[in-house]
Parts: sequence; C-alpha cells; structure tokens
Amino acid sequence: MLDVYSTINSVSQNFSLSSAPPPTLPLPPPSSPPTVSRYELQKRRDWNTFGQYLRNHKPPLILSRCSGANILEFLKYLDQFGKTKVHSCNCPFFGDPHPPAPCNCPLKQAWGSLDALIGRLRAAFEENGGRTETNPFGARAVRLYLKEVRDTQAKARGIAYEKKKRRNIKQRISSTNICD
Ligand SMILES: [Zn+2]
Repeated sequence: MLDVYSTINSVSQNFSLSSAPPPTLPLPPPSSPPTVSRYELQKRRDWNTFGQYLRNHKPPLILSRCSGANILEFLKYLDQFGKTKVHSCNCPFFGDPHPPAPCNCPLKQAWGSLDALIGRLRAAFEENGGRTETNPFGARAVRLYLKEVRDTQAKARGIAYEKKKRRNIKQRISSTNICD
C-alpha cells in the first residue's frame, strides 16, 4: 500500500514537472522602452497587488466600480504589512522621534509610502484605460485620508513631513495634544 502510494506520488510529481508549460510572459506594450525603470516596475507590482486585492475581496470588487471608499479600505488593509511604528496618544513615546524603549503601539504603513503608492496606482489606472474623471485613486476622500494620515503620523512620530519653521511654540504644543 505504502509503496504504491509513494510510486503514484512520485509519478504524479514527475508528470506535473515534465508537463508544466513553459512560463509565458505577457508581451510588453510596444511603446515601452527596453529598460524599465524602478518606478515602472514598482508601479506594475502595485497594480498587480491591487488587482489581487480586488479579486480576493469578499464580495469581489470590479475595478470600474471602485470608489474612493474602496481605495481607503485597501490602504487600511495594507497597514497590517506596515513597518512604521505609529504611537497611540496614550503611549509615553507619543511625539518622540527616537523612543528610548520598545512599546506595543501598532506598526503601520508610513504616510510617505502610501502617498507614493497612490501616485503610482493613479497613473496605472489611467494607463490601463481608466478615465481621469472616474479615477478612484484621485478621489477627494483619498486625498483627505492621506492628509489625515500625514498629520497624525507627524504628531505621533514627532516627525514633520514638511519642513516649516514654526516659531509659535504654543501652537506646536496644542497641536501635539490630539488625545481627546
Ligand atoms: Zn508607542
């Protein structure tokens, strides 16, 4: 019994190996240059990731029916793969860019990564036949969400994303206090 099983197993393994079709690559569009930039590669990867997300979504989502709300959902979904510590307002290291010890605050996607990602997906959407007017990556809700993420992370991490001199210290202190 065991022998038969292992024979079948190895036969089927051999079979699947030998019968595997050669990998076929999609033909690049004729206009694409011979050397592809890192940006282009990243954009294609992002576009594939997003396509996968749509297919795995329950219920499945159709690209042409995607709204800004779906994009927000996608961005929040990505947070679980994030590597950026974003302190909660209850954390003693809230607002500290160099915390002296570890804490239990969640890891999220850094604002800069999300912002760049949305830029690439927005371009990819239109390169894949989407219209500017219906581009969900350019939706107002997405812009507002990114701004909110930027502001929240700037406060939580004590990192200013836009280097502006702030002379008004009172304003800085009050803006750090977002707990309520
Ligand atoms: Zn923390």
